[in-house]
Amino acid sequence: MNVEFSEVYGPLINGVFEINNNGTFTAQDPATGKCLATIHYCNEQDVDRAVSAAHGAFAGWKALGQQERARLINALADAVEADSERLARIDALDVGRCISEVRKDYQTAVRHYRYFASVILAHEDHGREIAGGYALGKREPLGVCGQIIPWNAPAIMAAFKLAPALAAGNTVVLKPDENASLSTLELGRHIARIFPAGVVNIVTGLGEVVGAALSAHPQVRKLSFTGSTEVGRIVAGVAAERLVPATLELGGKSANIVFADVEDLDAVVDNATFAAIHNNGQSCLAGTRLFVHGDIFEAFKDKLIESFRRVRVGSPLDEESRVSCLVSAHQGRKVLEYIDIGIAEGATLLVGGARAEVAGCEAGYFIQPTVLLAGNHMRICQEEIFGPVLSLIQWDDYEEMIAQANDTEYGLAAGIYTANLKNAMATANRLEAGSVWINRYSNISDGTAFGGYKNSGIGREFCRETLNAYTQVKTITVQAEVPAPWFAPR
Ligand code: NAD
Repeated sequence: MNVEFSEVYGPLINGVFEINNNGTFTAQDPATGKCLATIHYCNEQDVDRAVSAAHGAFAGWKALGQQERARLINALADAVEADSERLARIDALDVGRCISEVRKDYQTAVRHYRYFASVILAHEDHGREIAGGYALGKREPLGVCGQIIPWNAPAIMAAFKLAPALAAGNTVVLKPDENASLSTLELGRHIARIFPAGVVNIVTGLGEVVGAALSAHPQVRKLSFTGSTEVGRIVAGVAAERLVPATLELGGKSANIVFADVEDLDAVVDNATFAAIHNNGQSCLAGTRLFVHGDIFEAFKDKLIESFRRVRVGSPLDEESRVSCLVSAHQGRKVLEYIDIGIAEGATLLVGGARAEVAGCEAGYFIQPTVLLAGNHMRICQEEIFGPVLSLIQWDDYEEMIAQANDTEYGLAAGIYTANLKNAMATANRLEAGSVWINRYSNISDGTAFGGYKNSGIGREFCRETLNAYTQVKTITVQAEVPAPWFAPR
């Protein structure tokens, strides 16, 4: 199937795709090294015009009301759904992800738009009686939202940002990552057709220039960032300086814990394999530290090695591929370096560990699914690798295991496998993580809050609570009559 997209792209500002004179960067197919398209850089002035457009569109968008905003968000969901095969193929080419997986991202994104188009209608203001009257707590949108997203799952990242912000009545300037802008710009075509001009603007280019200008812009009233903890800190610093709220979805190094009482070892091995290497391991929520109880350790380890060996590594558009190439050579080299670091620190390589060759995709960094027998203190267990690399850790003492599971700067997610519900609940309560999935890793569904403890972020997405982060409360009190004079002579 031919994937149709343009040769040249520019930012979407006030309903118009612009071509500027700031120079271009290439959207490159990481598997083949081919140039897919050229994209115009934005500079500070472009960001300023995008924010002005969003600022100008705010009053009208807010005044449209929930019903009409929900209708337009549903129209976007329909458009993305109808176009999802093409969009998924664009991401497979642009980011290098397996097509079978990116398709699921689009299903999630579509559900996400529909979820917020629905829940906004039930997002009621609150009120209560006060002496002689009423107090109303009315939720109002914040204004222009500056939203910055990473490259690893463009469809989901854009939906997580746009859906709640727009439903709540805000306008948006969205900045996709420079490694994965194509599908977001194609999403922009649907947006430009459906929404009033200026409600959503998309600015392209470098984080240090465009992301920084967007964070610092005085008319941006809310920041929402998904990406690394390192850049999240920069964005949070700017938000603090400017006194605007910021939602931060950052990195992770999640623990996945297997108890000795699991019933179906093969199923657990399969789920733990998925947890670690879905999205080629380029997932914030990847279960990259696998703690397995000593009583079943040897049997589990053998099955895990077999499971990793079985994973089909292939080209992004091959329907059978389950691991494909990393987003860039830079990322590929970083992952290989981490494998070396692990071995140098004393970890034992159990399977994988090298670059895989895929015919026709010689430029791509395909990394063999890798398991290292490791200790939790090692850098490979403390730092985000963002590749198909799993650290396997044996545990025998429960308290020690819990301490190690929590011994990380991150706290995004965790998994538990056990047949004992009491055990599962007690352990879930002990883990410092924003999501704990019992017996099914990454069990995210519409309306379940997602976000990090500790250095994995601030705030929750994908749930009704997110609407609170995109609104502020105005208290209005009503009295039946003006009080009797206090200062005036009687
Ligand atoms: P990154 O932090 O390098 O970049 C993310 C975005 O920030 C990009 O759009 C980039 O252009 C922009 N940026 C860079 N410098 C900036 C600056 N100074 N000011 C403003 N914006 C700037 O992250 P990445 O490497 O693209 O993405 C991978 C990271 O994202 C991983 O750490 C991963 O865990 C995290 N992530 C988290 C979640 C979550 O929900 N918690 C989801 C996906 C990815």
